[in-house]
Amino acid sequence: MPSYTPPVADFEFLLFDVLEIEKHTDLRGYGDLDRATVHDVLEGAGKFMSQVLQPLNQSGDEEGCHYENGVVRTPKGFKEAYKAYCEAGWNRLGVPEQFGGAGLPIILTFAVAEMGSSSNQAFAMYPGLTAAAYSALLATGAPWMREHVATKMIAGDWTGTMCLTEPHCGTDLRLMKTKAVEQPDGTYRLSGTKIFISGGDHDLTDNIIHMVIAKIPDENGKIADDLSTVNFFMVPKFLVSEDGKMGARNGVSTGSIEKKMGIKANATAVLNFDEAVAWRLGPKPQPKAASADGKTSSSAGMKGMFGMMNAARLGVGVQGVAVAEVAYQNAVAYAKERLVGRALTGAKAPDKPADPEIVHPDVRRMLLFARTAAEGGRALATWISFLLGVASSARSEAERQAAGDIADLLTPVIKAFCTDMGFDAANAAMQVFGGHGYIRDHGMEQFVRDARINQTYEGANGVQALDLVGRKLGRNAGRAPFALFKIINDFVSAETGEAIKPFIGPLKAGVDRLQDATIWLAQNGMKNPDNAGAASVDYLRMFGIVTVGFLWARMTKAAQAKLAAKPANAAFYEAKLVSARFWMERMMPDTASLSERIKAGADGLMMLDAANF
Ligand SMILES: Cc1cc2nc3c(=O)[nH]c(=O)nc-3n(C[C@H](O)[C@H](O)[C@H](O)COP(=O)(O)OP(=O)(O)OC[C@H]3O[C@@H](n4cnc5c(N)ncnc54)[C@H](O)[C@@H]3O)c2cc1C
Repeated sequence: MPSYTPPVADFEFLLFDVLEIEKHTDLRGYGDLDRATVHDVLEGAGKFMSQVLQPLNQSGDEEGCHYENGVVRTPKGFKEAYKAYCEAGWNRLGVPEQFGGAGLPIILTFAVAEMGSSSNQAFAMYPGLTAAAYSALLATGAPWMREHVATKMIAGDWTGTMCLTEPHCGTDLRLMKTKAVEQPDGTYRLSGTKIFISGGDHDLTDNIIHMVIAKIPDENGKIADDLSTVNFFMVPKFLVSEDGKMGARNGVSTGSIEKKMGIKANATAVLNFDEAVAWRLGPKPQPKAASADGKTSSSAGMKGMFGMMNAARLGVGVQGVAVAEVAYQNAVAYAKERLVGRALTGAKAPDKPADPEIVHPDVRRMLLFARTAAEGGRALATWISFLLGVASSARSEAERQAAGDIADLLTPVIKAFCTDMGFDAANAAMQVFGGHGYIRDHGMEQFVRDARINQTYEGANGVQALDLVGRKLGRNAGRAPFALFKIINDFVSAETGEAIKPFIGPLKAGVDRLQDATIWLAQNGMKNPDNAGAASVDYLRMFGIVTVGFLWARMTKAAQAKLAAKPANAAFYEAKLVSARFWMERMMPDTASLSERIKAGADGLMMLDAANF
């Protein structure tokens, strides 16, 4: 059975030595983040996740969820673990105290989320999606929903879902058919089918609050073929009155649950809405008014939905980091024990029939890849969560805007880059086990299967790349990418010391290529949008490698400063330098080939007639 040790020391290194959060007591919630408090939260969360959730990971995968007689059953032990999780308060760490939470800043809730997902991704999705749903309800719901529905979700008594996907559309939501018709009492009747809904039905709680998008038909009952009439709704499984009482079953039923490749302990449901009572969220849609382009819009509440989707995209990026970490840990343990072959430079364990696997350079390549995917991804997630803290509570408007810009720019990057890396890391870690990785006993193939969905849900990674090049880069005349490039360039110029030089050279080469590719995209993507589409995935990867490379350089600086003071745990900082070197030597050079691919343009991809494929 696989094991998991929460990487508490690494979180603390990032928080205190790299980001120096103790210097930012002006940010909301940071005043209480002293070392002892942070240590207690991380230790406590890590202990719970690794001792309660992790032991259920493999059994949950084996057993899966079951749908019988209209009831969805989660695997053995999940119900008790969910109860314990909520009783301990891990589901509401970041919720403001006035709503019953601990009010901790997102920089800590991200860390706890990673440990939950490393321990048991399928389990962690139930409270994870609930948090995204109740945050949307707090932001857009009527006072009674905030008081009586969101609070129940925060307490863990009810869970939440996000219902976007339909059988014929997941990416292109313009095509959605689910509709909601207004009633005289101001509620709506919502009908349609939503598929692939994570945690869409289960036996963990009495009620489930579905957050659903649907179109409001026009006076003739027709629905528009674009997004102009899409609105955001709350649809409880069991009706809820305005004083919070749970009533009769609503018109939403579970058609089936999917048989799928991974995260088998998370029920992925087909939900049929049949005249279900729905409450529209957000401001009342304005009467339809034609805009300059002649189109009309009566869409409202979408801000809440986008907020929920953004939170979920960041959360999925963290899932990528989480699986890289746990897969790496298990691969290292195996590589130290498994005896196979002799080191190329002569026996390292001559008393044994063979050397441990870890002597081989290629095995070390796989291990260091997985390790740097986890630690580099964690650095990216932690930096983004820091930027979100600055964006929401820094004193100056300029600081808030600059941080918000970069966090927004990096949202598709963490989602796609960290989930691609997470999958590749899980795959490399499985390879370290040889054939034993492919069979089920060691749990490695489960990591690969679980990691795979992260690249697809919450917007396929190719679509994230389009978001980066098509929307995020050009917004406000490129303000965000230029601000990020300036931060990296300023760091490169300032760090001239001998010790850090070997790390700065590759970072400079990478950021130069990234800026060059950005200019190429601006020029050639305008000329032919297919050039932008053809380059997008390579460009996002380059963006991820360089941004994480920048963070590896910052980690290098922090580790070198620590080592200068001759600490007792010098091995931890020395290992950081080795990992940073791996990134600069073996990941950063990819930016050269990515640059060539980006500049190849779209012609070669587009010339073959579809019939000839
Ligand atoms: C286990 C699981 C859990 C899920 N959980 C949820 C959930 O809780 N709530 C929810 O609403 N949905 C959920 N989903 C749905 C998921 O978000 C969608 O499957 C995903 O967004 C892709 O949509 P699709 O499957 O319809 O693929 P399509 O939209 O048909 O796209 C197919 C492929 O085409 C490519 N593609 C599409 N558009 C473009 C484009 N413009 N440019 C380039 N390439 C493109 C992408 O590579 C994509 O993978 C879940 C799915 C699974 C499998």
